[in-house]
Amino acid sequence: MDALTARDRWDIEEILRPAGGGGAYVDHAIELMLRFGVRVARGSRSVGWAARRALKTIDAFAIETEADYACALHELGHCVDSVTDRPIADRDYEPGFELSIESETYAWTFAVVSAGQRWSPMCHRTLQACLDSYGFAVDYRHEQQQIHALIAFSAERARRVVYFKAPPAIPTAIAPFVAQVPRSY
Ligand SMILES: [Zn+2]
Repeated sequence: MDALTARDRWDIEEILRPAGGGGAYVDHAIELMLRFGVRVARGSRSVGWAARRALKTIDAFAIETEADYACALHELGHCVDSVTDRPIADRDYEPGFELSIESETYAWTFAVVSAGQRWSPMCHRTLQACLDSYGFAVDYRHEQQQIHALIAFSAERARRVVYFKAPPAIPTAIAPFVAQVPRSY
């Protein structure tokens, strides 16, 4: 995709920034969209947050809460996903059914890692609620292990403990996903 245009940049601000300006969470989400060159379109409430990876575009809303921030980073993760080896055509999906555990695991891992110290208990609850809702799509034991590992990883990050020696080990089941998150800082 081409680089962001001035209009794309305006859309990112206009759609993600809530009335009143928002705080550090909003600033960070906008910064990441600009850094990764991901476009933002206004979402529809009946569908909710969504990603169109082939267009490097997310369907989004104003970031009013930390749950919104978590969703924004998750959809951004879908757009920069270099792990899921599966072409996703533009718009050829039924929202909610274009689901692979691998792509969801990657996109949530991206959100946790990219948020860094901003990953909060509310962000964690958002992740957990979404992952719990994917249960119908879990076909394999390794997928279940990835989901459990990711929830544990997210919970640990949300505790925001400062580790003076070494951070806790990354669970083996999601280590390949963590390794593929582009570092933005
Ligand atoms: Zn997703």
